[in-house]
Amino acid sequence: MPGHGRSGLHPGDAGLPVTAFFTTRAEGVSLAPYESLNVADHVGDDAHAVQRNRRIVSERAGVPVAFLNAAHGIAVEHVTAQTQTLPLADVLVATDAGVALGAIAADCAPVLIHDGASGAVAAVHCGREGLYRGVIDAAIAAIFDLRGGWSDGALLTASIGPSICGRCYEVPLDMRERVASRHPAARASTRQGTAALDIPRAIESRLAEFGFGEIVRSAACTYEDELYFSHRREGVTGRQAGVIVCEGPTGSARGAR
Ligand SMILES: [Zn+2]
Repeated sequence: MPGHGRSGLHPGDAGLPVTAFFTTRAEGVSLAPYESLNVADHVGDDAHAVQRNRRIVSERAGVPVAFLNAAHGIAVEHVTAQTQTLPLADVLVATDAGVALGAIAADCAPVLIHDGASGAVAAVHCGREGLYRGVIDAAIAAIFDLRGGWSDGALLTASIGPSICGRCYEVPLDMRERVASRHPAARASTRQGTAALDIPRAIESRLAEFGFGEIVRSAACTYEDELYFSHRREGVTGRQAGVIVCEGPTGSARGAR
């Protein structure tokens, strides 16, 4: 199964049991300041370039990808093989084999989740506001709902993609404390000692509380590494994607009821 597996041999492989990966700026056709694999259609880039870039990403996925446009809240949408258009959403879930989901971000974290019990997949956009409002819990609740409520996390695996790190994401002190009141693992400090938020660490901590069987976390910081789009570094820029393909219940029923 090309492009599949836990080996991490393929660039950006998310390390999940199904086809799942994270894109970078590399490849693609967009011009500055969106150079070059921008997949976001809401940031001012040429629409045809975005379409071509999305086709490039879909070719890697092997099927057309439904890309999420974040509402920066906890909105969940169930994407099926019949879905034509998507409203703003922060979580996409799918159970139909051959449906691919894409979470787009530039500093916020794209999070991909696979449920080994049901075969369901989710793509999540998680930034500061979404984390605070419970977007990770919303994604997990949606996955448990698809199981009919059975809530053992052991067969869940997740991959947290490239995002701004806790040493770079400086915020006002009161903002840090607000988020950390719900997610203590988010409390961080910059290299200069000022208040910061560690969003990926907080996501990992929350997933672990649900008992996820495995959590993969990218070491890349979008703000530090120019291989990635960074909204904070560049202002007007593109977005990268985390993509996960639903392969249905077959082949993923290891240990399921
Ligand atoms: Zn950083």
